Amino acid sequence: MIIVMRVGATQEQIDSVADAIRARGLEPLVMPGQDRVAIGIPASLGNDQRTDLTAVVGVIEGVSKITETSHPYKLASREFHRDDTCVEVKGVRIGGGSFVVMGGPCSVESYDQFSTAAKIVKSSGATILRGGAFKPRTSPYSFQGLAEEGLKILKSVGDENGLVTITEVMSGDMVGLVGEYVDILQIGARSMQNFPLLIEAGKSGKPVFLKRGPSAPIDEFLLAAEYVLNQGNSQVILCERGIIPLDRTYTRNTLDLAAVPVLKEHSHLPVIVDPSHGTGVAKYVTPMAKAAFVVGADGIMVEMHPNPKSALSDGSQALTPEQFLSMMSELKALGAPIASP
Ligand code: PEP
Ligand code: MN
Repeated sequence: MIIVMRVGATQEQIDSVADAIRARGLEPLVMPGQDRVAIGIPASLGNDQRTDLTAVVGVIEGVSKITETSHPYKLASREFHRDDTCVEVKGVRIGGGSFVVMGGPCSVESYDQFSTAAKIVKSSGATILRGGAFKPRTSPYSFQGLAEEGLKILKSVGDENGLVTITEVMSGDMVGLVGEYVDILQIGARSMQNFPLLIEAGKSGKPVFLKRGPSAPIDEFLLAAEYVLNQGNSQVILCERGIIPLDRTYTRNTLDLAAVPVLKEHSHLPVIVDPSHGTGVAKYVTPMAKAAFVVGADGIMVEMHPNPKSALSDGSQALTPEQFLSMMSELKALGAPIASP
């Protein structure tokens, strides 16, 4: 429910509405607008609660109208937050007009491998360095990541190259540890509905990069974001990384680029596209990265490995350093505002 105040409503009138909401055990969200204030109630209301509130608030001086929200998510929705959210990490802005590039290998494999990748990322003008230390693998026999050793490499290589870092955290009890080493917490596609993890990531106050589950409808994706926002953490970045495909003959997933304008319409959160997991095939990554810019994404996350053939995970979708640099040139030629801080 959103209560819209009249233009020129007094602070006292706004407070009366907020007090009436609080008196019913609910938390009001006061949203100052350009010419009028709106007061949202993020909680889902029962019918009786709605009728009661409408009756009480409707007669308060200064109230213009009471509207129902059209989505199950509230804090993630544009109805509750009209302007685009910009998440700023160490001077790098995600959302709000620039086109951010996150690059790096699927997994941190060694200091040398990661440092080589980081130097290429840096020289390309990209600003965020990715690399997995804890890997969610389909098989328990596949490389699982270097764990804390990988986090240490991430931190030192990030610092040495002046890059913001991002890595995946797979469980709620690891949020503290991972948060000590990296700037942005990535929640993987397989964990999108790991609610205890979402809550811990929300509590950490660190920026959270949330990947869409392979079979998640948009509403469920935004409700997952809502879990993080609901902990008082407004630094949430959404990532479209491909959904279950009709068949896997040609691509690993189907990159749902239509999700970008849909998410931008209904949510204020920044939207990043991952064409690497979205296609699973290196040669399709650059065209889809360019398409992501054209459809209005706020940036991309792309896997690049100094030597994809030797990669311990996701080698077939990793760009070579040369391919990564030419993707960056093609994006710049298209007019993508890739800005270094
Ligand atoms: C990754 O970024 O390496 C990863 C495992 O991604 P996703 O969760 O999208 O599969
Ligand atoms: Mn990967």
